[in-house]
Amino acid sequence: MSRLDSDALESDEIDLDPQDWDEFASLAHRAVDDMVEFLRTVRERPPWKPLPERARADLIQPLPRSSSDLASVYETFRESVLPYPTGNIHPRFWGWVMGTGTADGVLSEMLAATMNSHVGGWDQSAYVMERQVLRWLAEMLGYPTSASGLLVSGCTAANLTAVAVARRAMAELDVREEGLAGPGRPRLRVYGSAETHSWAKKCCDLLGLGRQGFRLIAVDSRGAIDLDQLRATLHADRAAGDRPICVVGNAGTVNTGAFDDLEALADLCVEENLWFHVDGAFGALAALVPELEHLVRGLGRADSVAFDLHKWGYLQYEVGCVLVRNADLHRETFAMPADYLRTPGRGIQPEALEMTELGVQLSRGFRALKVWMLLKTHGVDKLGQVIAQNVEQARYLASRVEREPHLELLAPVPLNLVCFRYVGKDLAEDQLDDVNQEILLRVQEGGIAIPSSTRIDGRFALRVANTNHRSRRKDFDLLVDGVLKIGAELEVEMGVEREEAVLASV
Ligand SMILES: *Cc1c(COP(=O)(O)O)cnc(C)c1O
Repeated sequence: MSRLDSDALESDEIDLDPQDWDEFASLAHRAVDDMVEFLRTVRERPPWKPLPERARADLIQPLPRSSSDLASVYETFRESVLPYPTGNIHPRFWGWVMGTGTADGVLSEMLAATMNSHVGGWDQSAYVMERQVLRWLAEMLGYPTSASGLLVSGCTAANLTAVAVARRAMAELDVREEGLAGPGRPRLRVYGSAETHSWAKKCCDLLGLGRQGFRLIAVDSRGAIDLDQLRATLHADRAAGDRPICVVGNAGTVNTGAFDDLEALADLCVEENLWFHVDGAFGALAALVPELEHLVRGLGRADSVAFDLHKWGYLQYEVGCVLVRNADLHRETFAMPADYLRTPGRGIQPEALEMTELGVQLSRGFRALKVWMLLKTHGVDKLGQVIAQNVEQARYLASRVEREPHLELLAPVPLNLVCFRYVGKDLAEDQLDDVNQEILLRVQEGGIAIPSSTRIDGRFALRVANTNHRSRRKDFDLLVDGVLKIGAELEVEMGVEREEAVLASV
């Protein structure tokens, strides 16, 4: 076909780019301005409000068959999506364990989306950057920088990746080729405290060990794993013909922020020939604070570590990290041997697609950019200072709770988690769970703050998990004042109800 012919055909071919780049640019600039304003004014709005019917109706719509104007699609986003987030970017959001996100994170997400790199490997900047970021993260935690690693969607995926390596390394079976089942084969067992996050059972289920393959060990009064019980359970399981493969140490439990004695667990795993994995979803980052470093002592000896950057790394969802000390074992767990054959040493794919041989994903995005921008922009020292500030704020909240006669602290505060409840004046123990549940809902619905809840020794607790770089001490005062006010109102309402009941009965 001549050049002229192909030019003539051009108008028949379509793509998904804007018809008018200038128009796109002005919409994009407006969107950037709107997003900056949204972030700048976050404190002026309540942390959360329910999604109204009108917005819900805008979202539940038939499949669009034809095109619409991008500007009008953006308008629907602005009116019906943007105003109704989970709320974790707000300075008084402390529910579950959620990250706040950073302004540089907003920018890096846009930059990464523009490049849209596939970070499986290849001779490209994003690949080199992810490898570098992984070395930095290892160094931050005091973990060997020779370790292998991978950025993944979050700590559940990171833990799953690590325990898959443990299974491959310790099963003494060719699980990759033959699977787990077979006559005379032992049941594989993984151990961790009763405070271990729910990922562990999901993981054992997915890896074919079954949920029962995760053996729950009791904790002491500080929420740390009971080493004697761990040893006894290991030995009993071996005597029964099972094969223990891995111990999970917790660096910051999800309920109370408790730390297992990682040094002792590392020793035990050497003695017992077990894989030592640390779940440090948020707590591992205590390593950045000199006064807290002792909590993670022993983490550097683990065979693998999993942690999140979208929690206490303050970054946008989704990004977690797994580090594995033995790079060969890591690769052997996921690599497909045929891939090794194609390594020409030059061109766009000079080597095997390294990153795809270290985890479940084949296609992978450019998660490293936001981590790189966070670390470069703020520096590790400042991150450590903000983490230390969160811990100091948690202590501040705990001390206010302890000073208030109508409040009760329900667990020690080793880190950034505070569990407490309203006890009031005249309330009986059997009323407290219901009263505190109602207080929680009114605090959330009233737009005061978003704590979540848990049970501590069977008692309903308001739970504040502070991984929020925007919080200030005065925000915790607002929470305490709100809980006291709502608690007092509830006591009055309950008193009126009692009187009415008495009146009705005469
Ligand atoms: C949040 C959390 C996880 C799970 O991490 P995701 O990033 O939500 O997948 C695992 N362990 C602990 C202790 C956690 O707090």
